[in-house]
Amino acid sequence: MAGLLDGKALAAKMQAELTEQVKELQAQADRPPGLAVLMVGDNPASAAYVGQKEKACARVGIASFGKHFAEDATQAELEQTIHALNQDDQVDGILVQLPLPDRLNSVALLNQIDPDKDADGLHPINLGRLLRGEEGLRSCTPAGVMRLLEEYQISLKGKQAVVLGRSILVGKPLALMLLEQDATVTIAHSRTPDLAAIARTADILVAAVGRIGLVTPEMVKPGAVVIDVGINRMTDETTGKSRLVGDVQFDALQDIASWITPVPGGVGAMTVTMLLHNTVWSYRQRLGL
Ligand code: NAD
Repeated sequence: MAGLLDGKALAAKMQAELTEQVKELQAQADRPPGLAVLMVGDNPASAAYVGQKEKACARVGIASFGKHFAEDATQAELEQTIHALNQDDQVDGILVQLPLPDRLNSVALLNQIDPDKDADGLHPINLGRLLRGEEGLRSCTPAGVMRLLEEYQISLKGKQAVVLGRSILVGKPLALMLLEQDATVTIAHSRTPDLAAIARTADILVAAVGRIGLVTPEMVKPGAVVIDVGINRMTDETTGKSRLVGDVQFDALQDIASWITPVPGGVGAMTVTMLLHNTVWSYRQRLGL
């Protein structure tokens, strides 16, 4: 049986540690850490994610400075808000909940965030720091994957890692983080021929694609560590109920993989926690604590 990489349990442990840290730090500074999450429109999935983030902030003692804009908010309006938050001393982290409506330019907007408050680590300066191996704010989902591997003492040195997916949010930064830990990294994507043959070379296989059941038993080397980043909604034909599933055929890999992440309760649980971690990290940096 594959061991479970339990993101939910690690997230709970890290949030308890962050709560203690925030208590101690707040006694030295005269304010709590602050995070501003900007959301546009009423996309139910985005609203649910923003709700989760704000609840998690409240749990660990981070103040929320959320701004919810109407669907017809303009680029200028959002930029002005980001500039004001950049100047606001109470705010240590700023995050724009993606996706934004198509008519808005999300890249231009993310570039307006002060890199030292870039809680999602998506500003070119922070991606550049990652590329150079310098300290800085790191993108939450890939950083959560790395933290999970570290927790279970899964060594990456000299291992073959294959990342399926090349997005700027997950695949590319994760490949750089694995490389930094001395793995030999291959990035595969929608134009990669014979994905299965490449996936089978992996000691560490990461799926960050967004396709239900993409990773089949034939794609996994016996003993591989399998990380499922995918979050997909699936409707059960018999019950009509919808549930979240990953990119990996979780049950079929139980006798093949050495370790595996569940969905939900794996990487997704880590993402919000890394956002809290980043906000507290910025707070410490900005206050010199
Ligand atoms: P994206 O759509 O930006 O990127 C998907 C990537 O998959 C692309 O690089 C594409 O080349 C590749 N791809 C598409 N079809 C493929 C195929 N058949 N074979 C191999 N590669 C293929 O998505 P994203 O933002 O990187 O997210 C990927 C998945 O991870 C989604 O399911 C998303 O919901 C999930 N996600 C989860 C978290 C989390 O917290 N767990 C965070 C972000 C994204």
